[in-house]
Amino acid sequence: MYSAPRSILAVAVVFISGLTETVSFAQGINFIRHAADPLPVSKTVSSRVPCTNNSRTTTAAGGDADVPCDAPPVSVPSLNPCNPATLPQIGCTPATDPVHENLAAMGKPGQKILRARDRVLEILQSENACSAWFRQKDPNPAAAFQTLGFAIDRHGEEVIHVSKGAASEYFFRDPYVAKVGQDIGAFSTITLNAGGAFFRALATTVAVSKEGGLSTFEKPRLINVGPYPGDSLDARTLALLHEFGHVLNLLPQDFDNEDGRSMQNTVEVLRFCRAEVESKVRRGTLAVRR
Ligand SMILES: [Zn+2]
Repeated sequence: MYSAPRSILAVAVVFISGLTETVSFAQGINFIRHAADPLPVSKTVSSRVPCTNNSRTTTAAGGDADVPCDAPPVSVPSLNPCNPATLPQIGCTPATDPVHENLAAMGKPGQKILRARDRVLEILQSENACSAWFRQKDPNPAAAFQTLGFAIDRHGEEVIHVSKGAASEYFFRDPYVAKVGQDIGAFSTITLNAGGAFFRALATTVAVSKEGGLSTFEKPRLINVGPYPGDSLDARTLALLHEFGHVLNLLPQDFDNEDGRSMQNTVEVLRFCRAEVESKVRRGTLAVRR
């Protein structure tokens, strides 16, 4: 996604690499749910004796049963109060969350991603217009989102390109904010530009001359994600919701922001999710929610 509605010119830059990830994942929904399931209590076996030789058991259903050899199979109902098939599950998280652990080990950038990720999970786990919008494509969007990994593009564009049009109008092209494959499904990766508005509030402006390509560095300008200033929690939350819209194929492709498509997609996300993105700010200032 791109960050500012003033960027009109289409550019084909880094989204090419994002396109290479567009591998469809036909079994995405079921896979997501199973992968995000907390471990059922009945499957927690800590002191089992491994089977040897021909000691595997065959169940009545005809399949191999992976059971300890020194005890008969015991049928215990699965106890899973956090079953993601039922909504909402606020407070329920899977027993393991490797993405969370990875982000926690990434220092300050990881913390920024983590806070926005937690915010998105909170939104998706609640009943609201935003989560209902995502449920059009996935019955449990929170579980799907939780499988997504994150990467930081430390070599991404970090300047605003300014160019002059034929009628002496100016065009601004901000550094991209984030990218992900289209309709890519569970366990895919959102790439965040280290020089974009997810992490930064300002970007240096570069004026490009028509004649010789000479560039002039000018003073930094503010960059943003939709209506939110760059490097803010609201901006990061909106950016992740936007990318998740691509993961679920809820938003159309906008890889080079052709015809301002990326901005249109951000407006679409805001149409359903703005109240939730801003809800914590409102609570913090004791303002009344609409
Ligand atoms: Zn987009």
